[in-house]
Amino acid sequence: MSFDVHIPTRIVFGPGTLDELAKLPLPGKKAMIVISQGNSMRRLGFLDRVISLLAQQNISCEVYDKIQANPIKRHVHEGTALIKKLGCDFIIGLGGGSSIDSAKAMAVLVANGGDYWDYIGTGTGKGKPLLHQPLPVVAITTTAGTGTEADPWTVITNEETNEKIGFGAKGTFPILSIVDPELMLSVPPTFTAYQGFDAFFHATEGYIANIANEISDLYALKSIALIAKWLPVAIAEPNNIEARTHVALANTLSGLVESTSSCTSSHSMEHALSAFHPEMPHGVGLILLSEGYYRFFAGKVDGRMGDIAETMGWSVGEKRGRERDLIFVDALLDFQKKCHVDTLQASDYGASSTKLENYAHNARTAMSRLFTMDRYTLSFAETKEIINTIFER
Ligand SMILES: [Zn+2]
Repeated sequence: MSFDVHIPTRIVFGPGTLDELAKLPLPGKKAMIVISQGNSMRRLGFLDRVISLLAQQNISCEVYDKIQANPIKRHVHEGTALIKKLGCDFIIGLGGGSSIDSAKAMAVLVANGGDYWDYIGTGTGKGKPLLHQPLPVVAITTTAGTGTEADPWTVITNEETNEKIGFGAKGTFPILSIVDPELMLSVPPTFTAYQGFDAFFHATEGYIANIANEISDLYALKSIALIAKWLPVAIAEPNNIEARTHVALANTLSGLVESTSSCTSSHSMEHALSAFHPEMPHGVGLILLSEGYYRFFAGKVDGRMGDIAETMGWSVGEKRGRERDLIFVDALLDFQKKCHVDTLQASDYGASSTKLENYAHNARTAMSRLFTMDRYTLSFAETKEIINTIFER
């Protein structure tokens, strides 16, 4: 047994913790706050609250407010230019994963210059090392989905090449993350479900990945148990702070899974789908792929899918091997029904089986690394076979 764990993020968790921003140590005097292009951070009053809490520490703020649901490279460059011009010395990602990931990507580019794709290690990226420590990033999450507050990863789409690629380094962990479940009460049920499933799959993939270890297993199984119990409650009762808090905890734990284990090729295949169809939420793509992916991997993951089923409260009885793993597929489909995501259709987001070849090729080049994290190495034909199942639902 061996592991090497390094998670240098201070995580302040719990209802009402946003107010601590007024006194927590912060890394600079002028913040660039990165938010989405929608109006929600202003409408809900979160932006004003953050600005006034920072003012109590005599920290001034600028705002970049163009980030899309699937964030793009052009906005990373725009924000970077603005940060340099205005002399901001740290970045706050306020919102969902897209705003926080964009903040991390800007932090890399402000410190290291050049083109953001210079540093991307796969696809058409040039794989250059980061020579300078990225600007400090503070993450304030208002959704429970990507786990980005507890990991170094940032996912950006290069809109010129249709590549949606994850990137991260030791220096791209947030230095501080505030996870206040009160900020998540207004997330509508459908998005609560999509984001919750993203967190769920970070934990399930991290548990079946070939680099899973004693530490990541603890985070993964706890995250899975919490989501199985509390996500349907958070969807049915959006104002239930107890449910929101448990789902937020599960999401942060799944971020810790991503910091200690890895996602698997299911995420590569999803990134291909949402690179071609940016209107498809990441969680939707993962849900569409999940039955085909896990059915294929049943019997190929050393019994680990059976463990997940048991964690979700399902009995595997005397079953062994593939039969035992397939109990998880039953549990997954039942869970999708409970969360009202069992009738999603790929075609509603523009996906088409005529593009199967492109999706598979994109997944295996842009996000090739995650294919090496599976316990069984997929061929091109098998990748296509799994992606094709999204059209057979
Ligand atoms: Zn994800």
